[in-house]
Amino acid sequence: MICMREHFDFAVIGAGIAGVSVAAELAAHASVVLLEKERQPGYHSTGRSAAYFSASYGSAAVRAATAASDSFFRVPPDGFSEAPLLRPRDTLFVARQDQLPQLSAFYEEIPRLERISGSEAIGQVSILDRGNIAAGLVETGGGDIDVESTLRGFLRQLDRQGGVCRYQQQVRALTRSSSGWLLTTDNETLECETVVNAAGSWAGELGLLAGLSDLGIMPRRRTALLLRLPDVIFDAEWPLVVDMDEDFYFKPDAGLLLLSPADETPSVPCDVQPEEWDLAIAMDRFQRATTLSIPQIEHKWAGLRSFSGDMEFVVGFDPRVKGFFWLAGQGGYGVQSAPGLAKLSASLLLDEPDRMPKQLAQYLDVLSPGRLIEF
Ligand SMILES: Cc1cc2nc3c(=O)[nH]c(=O)nc-3n(C[C@H](O)[C@H](O)[C@H](O)COP(=O)(O)OP(=O)(O)OC[C@H]3O[C@@H](n4cnc5c(N)ncnc54)[C@H](O)[C@@H]3O)c2cc1C
Repeated sequence: MICMREHFDFAVIGAGIAGVSVAAELAAHASVVLLEKERQPGYHSTGRSAAYFSASYGSAAVRAATAASDSFFRVPPDGFSEAPLLRPRDTLFVARQDQLPQLSAFYEEIPRLERISGSEAIGQVSILDRGNIAAGLVETGGGDIDVESTLRGFLRQLDRQGGVCRYQQQVRALTRSSSGWLLTTDNETLECETVVNAAGSWAGELGLLAGLSDLGIMPRRRTALLLRLPDVIFDAEWPLVVDMDEDFYFKPDAGLLLLSPADETPSVPCDVQPEEWDLAIAMDRFQRATTLSIPQIEHKWAGLRSFSGDMEFVVGFDPRVKGFFWLAGQGGYGVQSAPGLAKLSASLLLDEPDRMPKQLAQYLDVLSPGRLIEF
């Protein structure tokens, strides 16, 4: 009996926000299979983010990818989601007296931010401690992303366009054949012309599996907590408050306060859990910056943010072998930049330059995997 292997134009590995968005983008033009090792999409980094959209966050290339995603979140395609994808919330960067030089430098870099005094900052967020806030910068135009609706919207798009999504299918072997790639998962072998590596914290491992390298992509653990504040103090309209050196941030989240110590501890790729030490640091920093003593912790978690050595995204074909595409190293910006990066990736994968978001055209070399390879 001859057993015909399934063949796809593209196999996208990883059903986090990166994988689902690029798979949906490609499916209108090619046959696509999306493979995920877990039982559900978004189980790792995507389901553990702070879900914030900030146009001023990250390097120039990151900001360009965020700008290329802006209109998608504000006005998604028809039928994409019943719920709005973005709910407005400002950002307030706060500085102590000793952080004023950093605040001035940031203001010079992004002059559209509004500089305010310490008292004005406390006027916006009543729990900030007068003795520890000297000035602030306000960014408007940001907001909370509905990550679940975004993820589900892309999966619906993928499905409607004939794309296939398979869970509990860990890609365990990747072999180059004469016409493309053979992918061996837990219980099948597929063929495809092009592999898209959207494996998040496992992107480096997947590179090694393909006989390439890990490009130095390193997962870093970040911790988050949900605090319950007394009703008389809590205000759901507070902005996202970010320490000027990003030593902590907090924002309202579904009636609670999401707090992170903004930790970046190197980790192996895994189902990462919060460490007691990071929780203690979070509480200590929160108490120093605010007038509150010890609020009740309702929930805690940790997730991995994966960075390349130069902290830029890794998007493009690997120059060492045919048909292996990297969509990795999204760090702390992978949700807010996903629609733009998916469009950029589809433009490169389909070789259709007209599809490229105009904001990203000048950053192809900055993002290219080739920059991380020593020949
Ligand atoms: C605490 C925290 C706060 C954050 N806050 C924000 C924020 O406010 N805004 C923002 O934009 N970003 C934020 N981020 C970053 C954001 O979450 C990530 O950049 C983004 O989720 C990365 O998406 P991804 O699809 O690349 O990775 P993931 O969501 O991890 O998806 C990768 C998937 O690949 C699968 N996979 C791996 N290997 C294989 C294999 N061999 N076979 C099959 N499947 C495989 C994994 O199971 C996983 O589901 C935050 C992250 C953390 C942890």
